[in-house]
Amino acid sequence: MSKFQTVSVLGVDFIKATNAEFLQALFNDSLQRKNRFVVTANPEIVLAAKNDPAYYQTLKTADYITADGIGIIKGAKILGTPLPERVTGYDTMLKLLEFANQEAKKVFLVGGKPDVIQKAREKILQTYPHIKIVGAYDGYFKDDKEITQAIAQSQPDFVFAALGFPKQENFIAKNRQLASAIWMGVGGSFDVLAGTVKRAPNFWIKLNLEWFYRLLKEPTRFKRMLALPRYLSLVKKEAKRQK
Ligand code: UDP
Repeated sequence: MSKFQTVSVLGVDFIKATNAEFLQALFNDSLQRKNRFVVTANPEIVLAAKNDPAYYQTLKTADYITADGIGIIKGAKILGTPLPERVTGYDTMLKLLEFANQEAKKVFLVGGKPDVIQKAREKILQTYPHIKIVGAYDGYFKDDKEITQAIAQSQPDFVFAALGFPKQENFIAKNRQLASAIWMGVGGSFDVLAGTVKRAPNFWIKLNLEWFYRLLKEPTRFKRMLALPRYLSLVKKEAKRQK
């Protein structure tokens, strides 16, 4: 298990680590060929875990759960157990790709629409020429057999699953024994890599308004974002209960 202390937010245990500390742990794990399951969780994931015992149990099997999303940082603070900073899936993936490039490691990609996965693959090959992409499959498969066979056969060092939650965590928990790799769910990260979705400019991220930028760009996310006030009210209730 993780060597970091954890902070519970509504029953989900987040590692108390900065980006630098977390990356160092992942680099060490990778050099030692450890099998690792990384979840970068936001308030939506915490709520989903609260409402779905099976998903909650799946998250319990993760080695590291990081605070993706400002809502988690806020929640931890309200509970009186602050976390140092956001550790997002997208930024972590970029750093792992940099590392994989330096070490000429094998990377397996699964997720996104067919055009997105192709573009993401090309982008990685261009930017990180020493990475060996040993698999690139879109995320709209009926049966994961072909993909899991490819993973077992190619033995990647990193598996990035961009299937959205809970699909990506379920996929990883079910298949992680196939290869001693760092397995990470990365949500919409391939869309950003492919350029089909733009990440918020740094200015917005610094102001903790990345969620608002995404809402403006993808108004259909509105319904999903209703999870946020619900999550915050549950956190406040919990904080009161603990007093
Ligand atoms: N996706 C997929 N298979 C599915 C459902 C979703 O590959 O069955 C992909 C989808 O194309 C997108 C990603 O999963 O690339 C989910 O992105 P979203 O923005 O919802 O994730 P977030 O970053 O918010 O976690």
